[in-house]
Amino acid sequence: MTATRIALVGIGKIARDQHIPALAASDAFELAATVSRSGGTEGVENYETVEALLEARRDIPAISFCTPPQVRHAGARAALDAGRHVMLEKPPGACLSDVHALEALAKERGLSLFATWHSRHAACVPAARAWLADKRIRSVRIDWKEDVRVWHPGQRWIWEAGGLGVFDPTINAFSILTEILPVEVHVSGAELRFPSNCDTPIAAEVRMDGPDGPLVTADVDFLYDGDPFWRQIVETDAGTLTLDQGGAIMRIDGGAQQGEGWKEPGIHGEYDGLYAEFARLLARNASEVDLRPMVLVADAFTLGRRLDAPEFIDPTT
Ligand code: NAP
Repeated sequence: MTATRIALVGIGKIARDQHIPALAASDAFELAATVSRSGGTEGVENYETVEALLEARRDIPAISFCTPPQVRHAGARAALDAGRHVMLEKPPGACLSDVHALEALAKERGLSLFATWHSRHAACVPAARAWLADKRIRSVRIDWKEDVRVWHPGQRWIWEAGGLGVFDPTINAFSILTEILPVEVHVSGAELRFPSNCDTPIAAEVRMDGPDGPLVTADVDFLYDGDPFWRQIVETDAGTLTLDQGGAIMRIDGGAQQGEGWKEPGIHGEYDGLYAEFARLLARNASEVDLRPMVLVADAFTLGRRLDAPEFIDPTT
């Protein structure tokens, strides 16, 4: 198999921790260039802007964007306009209409657009989906709690409009939820806690209804001191499914654990799955843009009551 040349845009935490190692391990892709304001990564040709890359490297057919959501649209649009396939980090844009516009452009140009949800590639998500497929869902409890000072040090964009605040990690929970539940859900209410010096919330409670009424409660916190809590508990007519560590491990009725039960919390192997999926999409000249997780977040902002929280000071900045 000939590897497809790909460029990475935005060499920050997730590019270094996940994208670069996943591309190094991939037979399907070869990291051929970066776009970075801060120099990129050793041994790979770097460009200062997406436009410079597009002009100089017509031999690169695919571009993967790891920049913050607020600054991603223009680059992704330029890439599609220049005939390149595009992969987007989650959340795929700063708002829904921004992604709808990219989706329409990709379709018009006959190009692949992949709006990724890395958490859907966690080890036990497919097994959870399969187990729940024929069950009647009674309730879902989501606890998504981590310390932003540990997991996102110095990332000011998270606290600016479009950065989502606590919904930057919570959208991962919603991407799993919408993947595993056999029914659709919609937001019925929310409380969002905004620090006085931030445009985005630091904690929230979100409620969702299913077809028969109240179904999901999500309690999410971005100032949780201690090991992160990335858990969904699904009560059904045939037992309880617990999906833990962001989908890496699963238990049914407290029974034997499935999945490897990683000692360190984090993202394990999910990006290998994402790039394998992107390769499959390119082979079929297809796109994948499922915006349901983003719709749930947008609706939480629309319906949510705004509550005040103390000023947030990031000790790392
Ligand atoms: P980050 O560490 O802040 O990196 C983002 C990079 O984008 C920067 O280092 C910078 O790279 C580039 N950039 C271009 N314009 C920028 C601007 N105006 N402000 C800030 N950076 C700009 O963020 P990240 O954690 O990698 O997150 C990036 C995306 O990945 C987000 O959508 C996030 O939700 C997603 N994600 C993050 C994680 C995680 O654990 N951190 C996990 C999964 C997904 P250059 O200096 O190279 O230009």
